[in-house]
Amino acid sequence: MRFVALALLALVVTAPAVAEPTRDHHSVARLDEVRIKHVYLDLDVDFDSKRLSGFADLSLDWRKADAGRLDLDTRDLNIQRVLAKNAEGEWKRASFRLGARNPMFGQGLRIQLNGAPEKVRVYYQTSPNASGLQWLAPEQTLGKKKPFMFSQAQAAHARSFVPLQDTPAVRFTYSAHVTAPEGIRVLMSADNDPAATGVGGYRFTMPQPIPSYLFAIAAGDIAFQSIGPRSGVYTEPGRLAAAAKEFEDTEAMIAATEKLYGPYRWGRYDLLILPPSFPFGGMENPRLSFITPTVIAGDKSLVSLIAHELAHSWSGNLVTNESWEHIWLNEGFTSYVENRITESVFGLDQAKMEQVISQRELMAELKELASADQHLVVSLKGRDPDEGLSGVPYDKGQWLLRSMEKRLGREVFDPLLREWFDAHAFQSVGTEEFLKFFGFARVRCCRQQVSAR
Ligand SMILES: [Zn+2]
Repeated sequence: MRFVALALLALVVTAPAVAEPTRDHHSVARLDEVRIKHVYLDLDVDFDSKRLSGFADLSLDWRKADAGRLDLDTRDLNIQRVLAKNAEGEWKRASFRLGARNPMFGQGLRIQLNGAPEKVRVYYQTSPNASGLQWLAPEQTLGKKKPFMFSQAQAAHARSFVPLQDTPAVRFTYSAHVTAPEGIRVLMSADNDPAATGVGGYRFTMPQPIPSYLFAIAAGDIAFQSIGPRSGVYTEPGRLAAAAKEFEDTEAMIAATEKLYGPYRWGRYDLLILPPSFPFGGMENPRLSFITPTVIAGDKSLVSLIAHELAHSWSGNLVTNESWEHIWLNEGFTSYVENRITESVFGLDQAKMEQVISQRELMAELKELASADQHLVVSLKGRDPDEGLSGVPYDKGQWLLRSMEKRLGREVFDPLLREWFDAHAFQSVGTEEFLKFFGFARVRCCRQQVSAR
């Protein structure tokens, strides 16, 4: 109970709340003027130059038809030319300029427009040093014969491989056509087809609207093995059998989560097991979680990572933090759901043990953490969004939800949490919605941190 009080106190800030955010500290996007609603990518993967090159078509939803401009986020992109599709359906050149380079956020790309074109096309090339892409030489892979490339877009790195509004406040669907050298399979956070050969390029569709940080692409010597009716493992051939065995409980985890929180809404749930240089444990790219090979322990002792990435299919990917200051809505909810999946599939003892470990780690970390960063909602103005990634959003967020569960009882809390996911599905939300939805009527919070500029 003590921690409910602590956590709620941490949420209280003073300025009045306002409506839907129009700006995000970490993006140049003017959300009150225009929002991207669909992205089509046509790209080639070139391992020799370590570049993606081609174009992005951005379909636009205009809020101010006379804005006369489109501001996009980029980082280290070589912008070659820009076209806009006019009312007659003709593509015409549009003028553009790149703003000053900010080491943390890259460069704004301002495109000057006549009227409100339905689409804008940007021809571009990524840099070999793109912050969101890793290019591995063959010797850095397990097979040591073919190169490998993968992306990591969270928090603000999608802009280093696609020019776009790089903020979780904007959701869009996407489709793509990607070519790569023979023998290299390309995968995306979309409808991957295990039978695709790559002749004429790989084609992808992501029909559910996602925020930019869930854009993902990988290419390499990748094989596939089915592990369930709607899931499978992609990885280098030499790791396939071990990975399929280790993660064979994936369908049981999906079913357990559906029982608690409603249907899995993304079609397939596949895993891509990456080479060891993947810098995280896992990344919840929709339909295709990216996973470190270091969790293949041989005894399933580390598969709670899969429970975590799967849980994001509800908390994070379905209901998304509208800016990185509210990341606890992604990670705290996910850590809580992860623990519930672990309890359902692997038993109460395992779940309790993981709770104790997470609480102890949090208490140790809090001793070192600046008091301003101990709040669930942290001000990130002028800061790299990755700086918000302490144990606080994960473990303290989880602790808050567990305290609410204890106070309300599972018979009340479980349906309420399911309703939270249903009511906000495919939306980006802030802590204010959380407070309203769960009845914390007198607590004031927090959106002005995002929008008051
Ligand atoms: Zn997570």
